[in-house]
Amino acid sequence: MMKDGILTAVESGRILVSDGAWGTFLQKKGLKPGECPELWCLERRAEVLDVARSYIAAGADMIETNSFGGSRFKLDHYGLGDRAAEINEAAATISREAAGADKWVIASIGPTGKMLVSGEVTEDELYAAFKEQALALAKGGADALCIETMSAADEASLAIRAARENTNCEVICTFTFQRGAKGYRTMMGLSPAQAAQAAVQAGTQIIGANCGNGMAQMIEIVKEMRAASGTTPMLVHANAGLPKNINGVDVFPESPEEMAARVKAVVDADAGIVGGCCGTTPAHIKAIRQAVDNLA
Ligand SMILES: [Zn+2]
Repeated sequence: MMKDGILTAVESGRILVSDGAWGTFLQKKGLKPGECPELWCLERRAEVLDVARSYIAAGADMIETNSFGGSRFKLDHYGLGDRAAEINEAAATISREAAGADKWVIASIGPTGKMLVSGEVTEDELYAAFKEQALALAKGGADALCIETMSAADEASLAIRAARENTNCEVICTFTFQRGAKGYRTMMGLSPAQAAQAAVQAGTQIIGANCGNGMAQMIEIVKEMRAASGTTPMLVHANAGLPKNINGVDVFPESPEEMAARVKAVVDADAGIVGGCCGTTPAHIKAIRQAVDNLA
């Protein structure tokens, strides 16, 4: 059976399950501080494939790729900027292998770490970096591009445009919020409503939130996004609760069962795709899968 696009599936009323954390998973497999996670796509391929396969085995309908820091700007920190295309194509190929023909690959594109407001980078340079990454991920077999952990409207919009204008992939854009005195805001000061509107205006087909918050906070964020964004499908990648810093290490407190208990509420708030971010494991995704299946 030919699989539909993610949009078609969500719009038909299906609730989809996404995957869980990659960074914290690779750390458990021995990724060291200061090491380039994305280089593992070339040098530790079997380990990366195992992460991808673990989430498919847990019941995810879609998996990300080990390409979060795969922009030329991020790879430059490791002297690997010129290998951006090679690394991203490999990242998508690995997840494609794990996903097979039936599951979706939503390839990760994270922030470049460069801010337009500071003048350290131009719009053309940012667009070119996102275009390079998007093209390579599409070439490796990605179904969708998941632009994530965004905080600035201008950077997110350039990434969305680069993805839409240069590939046939569906485009997802998620932002990361923190709760402060004024409510939920990105690091650059966007509310969930403002972030949703900026992303939709730039052409994203799916909006959402990832990282920074557990499922309980995501329920509130999704409600704010929905109020501002009409019917655009929404994706949530929630952390396993809010991290507690214990001896310099972030520890994520929520068990799979605790996260899964909030799935109904986040779906009722109109999230159509539910998965995990930092601290979540295949066990969390398995519990979320069961909770989603129990909704039907
Ligand atoms: Zn995260």
